[in-house]
Amino acid sequence: LDNKEEFTHTTLATDVMRPRRGDQPLTVIEQEGMTVGDLEHLVRTTKYNGFPVITSHESQQLIGYLYRRDLILALENAHHNNEHVLSNSLVYFTLHAPTPSLGGANDPVPLRLFNIVDLSPITVTDHTPMEIVVEIFSKLGRQALVTHNGKLLGIITKKDVLRHIAQLNKQDPDSILFN
Ligand code: ADP
Repeated sequence: LDNKEEFTHTTLATDVMRPRRGDQPLTVIEQEGMTVGDLEHLVRTTKYNGFPVITSHESQQLIGYLYRRDLILALENAHHNNEHVLSNSLVYFTLHAPTPSLGGANDPVPLRLFNIVDLSPITVTDHTPMEIVVEIFSKLGRQALVTHNGKLLGIITKKDVLRHIAQLNKQDPDSILFN
C-alpha cells in the first residue's frame, strides 16, 4: 500500500470494515467451548486468512487473532501427536489449562491452543479515520480488527482498504494490483 499520495477523504474505519449491514456476522472463535470438530468445520467452510478470538459471544471482548494457517497446522499436529484428540475434544484458547476431568482412558482429551493466538493484533476503533488506517497498513500488517470499548465489531484487510480507495477514486477495483 503506497502512502505517498495523501489520503484526503473523511471516511472512518466503521465505513470500511466488514461485516457490512446485512452481511453475515464475523466468523469468530470463542476462547472456550469449541471442539476440534467445530474448528475443522470453520477451516473447511471459510476462506478467511484468520479469525478473531473472543471471550464469548455475550461479551464480544477481543482476545487476539488466529491465523488460518496456524490453526490448520496446530490441528494437524494435535491429531498426529495424540490419538485421544478427537472431533469432540474441547479446545481452550486460555492461559490456564482446564481442570483435568476424571474421564476414562478413551475419552477425548482437551486441547490447549493459547500459544498460537496473536495476542497483539493491530486494532483500531470504529471512529478511527481511514487516513490513519491507510497509514498503519502502509507500514505494517495485512489486517486490523475494529473494536468499540474493547468489543469486537469488525475487521479491515489490506484488500478492503485498496477496494475502498478504488471506489473513492471511482476506479474499477479489479484494475488495482493487489500484492
Ligand atoms: P483478503 O481481504 O486479503 O482476501 P480475507 O480472505 O481474510 O483477506 O478476507 C476476505 C474478506 O472477508 C474481507 O472483506 C474481510 O474484511 C472479510 N473477513 C476477513 N476475516 C473475516 C472473518 N473472520 N469473518 C468474516 N469476515 C472476514
